[in-house]
Amino acid sequence: MFIGGEWVDTDDHYDVINPATEEVNVTCAKATPAHVDAAVAAGKAAFESGEWRNTPPAERAALFDRVGQRVMARAEEFTVEGTKGTGMPLRLSGALGVGFPVGHVFHYAELIRKHEWVRPAPIGGAALQTGYIAKEPLGVTAGICPWNFPANFAMWKTLPSMAVGNSVVIKVDEKTPTFALELAAIFKEEGLPDGVLNVIVGDGPVVGEALVQHPDVALISFTGSTAVGRHVMEASAKHLKRVLLELGGKGPNIVLEDADLDIAVDGSIWAFCMHAGQACESGTRLLLPASIHDEFVERLVARMKTLKVGNPLDPATDIGPVMSAQQRERILGYIESGKAQGATVALGGDSPQGPGYEKGFWVNPTVFTNASNDMKISCEEIFGPVVSVIKYDTVDEAIQIANDTEYGLSAGIWTTDATKGLEIAQQLKAGSVWINDWHNINNDLPFGGYKQSGFGRELGPDALDEFTQDKAITIDLTNDLNKKFYGLVLSTPLGQE
Ligand code: NAD
Ligand code: MN
Repeated sequence: MFIGGEWVDTDDHYDVINPATEEVNVTCAKATPAHVDAAVAAGKAAFESGEWRNTPPAERAALFDRVGQRVMARAEEFTVEGTKGTGMPLRLSGALGVGFPVGHVFHYAELIRKHEWVRPAPIGGAALQTGYIAKEPLGVTAGICPWNFPANFAMWKTLPSMAVGNSVVIKVDEKTPTFALELAAIFKEEGLPDGVLNVIVGDGPVVGEALVQHPDVALISFTGSTAVGRHVMEASAKHLKRVLLELGGKGPNIVLEDADLDIAVDGSIWAFCMHAGQACESGTRLLLPASIHDEFVERLVARMKTLKVGNPLDPATDIGPVMSAQQRERILGYIESGKAQGATVALGGDSPQGPGYEKGFWVNPTVFTNASNDMKISCEEIFGPVVSVIKYDTVDEAIQIANDTEYGLSAGIWTTDATKGLEIAQQLKAGSVWINDWHNINNDLPFGGYKQSGFGRELGPDALDEFTQDKAITIDLTNDLNKKFYGLVLSTPLGQE
């Protein structure tokens, strides 16, 4: 762990497993609630010293930039580490595990430079009175991360908060602890004061819970399952913590009749197979018009048969393993439920067998046709490479099906008619809508959920505002007491006591 600028070990250790080989990647210390207390105390002391929050924004931004460059310089190492950690195929790991998160560091540095820290706000009608809106930090904020994109979440849960002068305690997922620890060490080497960034490794119900219950934590930024997110929000009520929740999804992917099929077929595979489907914003409900349904499915299946499932360190691999044996069993359980409820397996539906798959946690990419929107496979987040193909007749029906879900994280439309695409986009209840693309999470745009996919936004131009509180400051330069508002309402006018 990394607490108060120091590496902290404990007697309790556990092994972090490579999901492709089941080998031990690294052995890690497991935190207790006492470590959470120490980390929050370190964060609080750092915050109260004022050293970081009073560092000029330009210097903070420059520090972020140096950290980004340091991470980039180790791109190859982090790419391989990312692949060994989550099974993400090498090409994807380079782009999404390193390039993309480094972009976030530079983005947040830019936001620091552009941020309006204090805004003058003249008060109407009172010449000698004026106001200021100060954007102030909250104190100690906590981040709780899932395992699917360790570098991204290490960035998202720390940088926007640190950018505005808060201290942060981040609890990484127990399955993917290393990147955040290395990031904290780089920050320290580049001059971040001790205690501003603390990294805790341990079990959710123990140390995650301790963070959520801690009275000195002002905000919890959580990404993970809807069930745990709901619990985090309930538990946060006790101290009225702010919560940002980025939870599950069941993204509707609507193909229109006029779509460019080559682009839409590949894009739909990208939508649900990226990182073996282990992304909350995946496109896992594929809505096809009846008129092109059969042709589309035929092309989808043919194309998917060319994908290589296997060793994620092989640059030719398209799809790696899923994260754990437990995750594999969960996915296979959903696949069985799809079969039992009457959907047809058009491809996959099982785990690959034979050489190369003896070790590791594997699921074949799976396409269900004849699926309806009320089947379990269409309602619940599977978090694996599984898609439900749902046939529709009219565009209105497609929109209705798309919105008929408790989730609202992402949605997509494939069309050559941009006007129609935008008209549909306005009707979809989702935080991100991608026309002719998927997974287009962009530094310049806010990312987050509608409905039970959560609330709060990461990235985008206003990302720092989530981690500040507004202070309204007024100053009254009127010297004449009779011109003051309270001078008008006090019972005895001045000078007539
Ligand atoms: P999870 O919600 O169980 O865990 C996410 C994080 O919360 C982890 O760091 C975990 O240790 C922590 N946690 C667990 N219990 C906690 C508690 N009581 N208090 C505080 N923190 C706690 O998610 P998971 O185990 O990674 O995956 C389970 C499911 O969650 C997946 O199958 C998927 O449906 C969903 N998921 C969503 C995302 C996403 O990006 N939205 C990411 C990962 C998982
Ligand atoms: Mn869990």
